[in-house]
Amino acid sequence: LTSRLPKVGTTVFTRMSQLAAESGAVNLGQGFPDFACEPALVDLVTEAMRGGHNQYPMMTGVPALRAAIVAKIAAIYGHQYDANTEITVTAGATEALTTAILCCVHPCDEVIVIEPAYDSYLPAIALAGGVPVLVQMTVDADGYRVPWDQVAAAVTPRTRLIIVNTPHNPTGSVLRAADLQALADIVRGTNMLILSDEVYEHMVYDGQRHESMCRYPELAARSFVVSSFGKTYHVTGWKVGYVAAPAALSAEFRKVHQYNVFSVNTPMQHGLAGYMADPAPYQQLPAFYQRKRDLFRDGLRGSRFELLPADGTYFQCVRYERISSLPEALFAEWLTSEVKVAAIPVSAFYQRSQESGIVRFCFAKKEETLALALQRLTSL
Ligand code: PMP
Ligand code: GLN
Repeated sequence: LTSRLPKVGTTVFTRMSQLAAESGAVNLGQGFPDFACEPALVDLVTEAMRGGHNQYPMMTGVPALRAAIVAKIAAIYGHQYDANTEITVTAGATEALTTAILCCVHPCDEVIVIEPAYDSYLPAIALAGGVPVLVQMTVDADGYRVPWDQVAAAVTPRTRLIIVNTPHNPTGSVLRAADLQALADIVRGTNMLILSDEVYEHMVYDGQRHESMCRYPELAARSFVVSSFGKTYHVTGWKVGYVAAPAALSAEFRKVHQYNVFSVNTPMQHGLAGYMADPAPYQQLPAFYQRKRDLFRDGLRGSRFELLPADGTYFQCVRYERISSLPEALFAEWLTSEVKVAAIPVSAFYQRSQESGIVRFCFAKKEETLALALQRLTSL
């Protein structure tokens, strides 16, 4: 068999979680909470199962969940989507991202990808036969930034799509209004579409607001906006997400979704629909995670790691040059097996591995987990 994805191996998240387990390390690598979700959410799903919601739901998603998603987006971002034609429930954000890419990228179309980039984008572009055009974020003491002039220079008549991710994995940076303005200036007058990965939309700190494409009608009109309930409600294993996109884009998205997964598990959707009636859980999320972020950052201040800004997501990037000159992948492996704290090398988020001496920690952990990790990290 000739591989469709010859360069793809096991993901860095799986490898580092495996090494963490083998080494008995505190796993601050792969991004997932080590605490339970709200019992009320589990109760709602259980009730849905007991109530008989166990057969195929609609291909596009359970109507009550699509209505709840529309109401949430309208309340927070002021954009009114049509639940019937513009919202599709997906098998996690991963399926939404791949489906969006497959439905609009033709062979030889160019797709602008900003690096470091989440690991699923490039394989999905490869499956579509698209050509990735890579633009690297800059990094200095103020953190990571998108160089919009370089993005503008990367646009050609063949550019079909640009993928943006805010809040950003792995860097924890967030786009500001001026960034979206720069993006709008670039796409105006072109046929470019936007795939906006906003799975960490409810994790923006220090009183800042999330700049969703949905806030800007000009951008929303050409965007697939993707989110994930796994992140928002501490249930990464449920794999339920959604895409919001104008009707014409959603129609094409659904053609691929229909024959990829057809539909997403029914009881989870009913449970999530009921749970979304109360906005408190996602409204409280910034404060909840900001406490963890601050605890982790305060703990690391006494160490030889240098902190980069962490404005959003549940990730903290650090420089380790005062500790080691190892390349990132080897440093992360050493940290996991010898220091017993797992991290993710940021170099894994680049197509051509780029060494910046930076690794990513996930702070979506119980305080005692963070305390144990800090004890080890500050001993270096
Ligand atoms: N995009 C980004 C930036 C992510 O961090 C993740 C979660 N790892 C995903 C997409 C995938 O989300 P899901 O687990 O809902 O498929
Ligand atoms: N999004 C998670 C992370 O960045 C990992 C998800 C996965 O393992 N595919 O750590």
